[in-house]
Amino acid sequence: MKHVNRQELVDFLKPRLNARFQTWIEICAHCAICADTCHFYLAHDRNPSMIPAHKARFLNEILKGKAVPDEAYLKKMYETLYYECNMCRRCALYCPFGIDVGLLVSLQRAMLHNVAGLRPAGLEAAIENYRQFGNQMALTEEDWVDTLEWTIEELEDDYPTLEIPIDKQNAKIMYTVNAREPKFYPQDIQEAAIIFNAAQEDWTMPRVGWEDTNLSMFCGDLTTSKKLVENTFRQADKLNAKQVAITE
Ligand code: SF4
Ligand code: SF4
Repeated sequence: MKHVNRQELVDFLKPRLNARFQTWIEICAHCAICADTCHFYLAHDRNPSMIPAHKARFLNEILKGKAVPDEAYLKKMYETLYYECNMCRRCALYCPFGIDVGLLVSLQRAMLHNVAGLRPAGLEAAIENYRQFGNQMALTEEDWVDTLEWTIEELEDDYPTLEIPIDKQNAKIMYTVNAREPKFYPQDIQEAAIIFNAAQEDWTMPRVGWEDTNLSMFCGDLTTSKKLVENTFRQADKLNAKQVAITE
């Protein structure tokens, strides 16, 4: 965790506080209508500290100079933002003002990541893999292509004409997957291939840019997020694919 001062946090927030965010921060009536919509609140015996609106409190505290962002404060913020909200946005549907605590939590997570360097270790490892390998499972291009090949070979008896076209030019669909599929669930890729072939679809899977998860968004690491999206769309452009389809 980096040592930070309040001004650094304010400087990060100011350009990102659009009219909508500013309004939400100002108008919350603390009515707690949103309380019962939150599964964290319900699962913690209606603990008042789990009421959705309370999870956005750091913004006001920092902007109004009520916070001293020492290690204990940042740690509390980290625990609240990552272990008391999963940004499902359900509470926003019930707030009479439409205040979206999920988005406010997202903004605060981005502040923590970008200013204090704080995010969960698992997320950090995934981001490092994205940066180095272009996918969260650290698969090399060789691993990936090899997996596609043996995946199809396994089905040879039942589907002798089945194939996965890799890097085919001008296909209608470029199909991308969650990196957990080649790593842990290659049967998902097999099933997709069976369906595409049965439908006689004009499809391909790219050699690079095939990862369609973007977990870096969860901590506001937009540099990595942008790179991942660019990897996919650069390859789609190169192959002249008409559509990009994602798994799930
Ligand atoms: S977020 Fe909306 S529902 Fe929740 S306390 Fe504030 S005004 Fe009330
Ligand atoms: S967005 Fe967060 S605070 Fe709102 S209901 Fe979902 S988990 Fe609860």
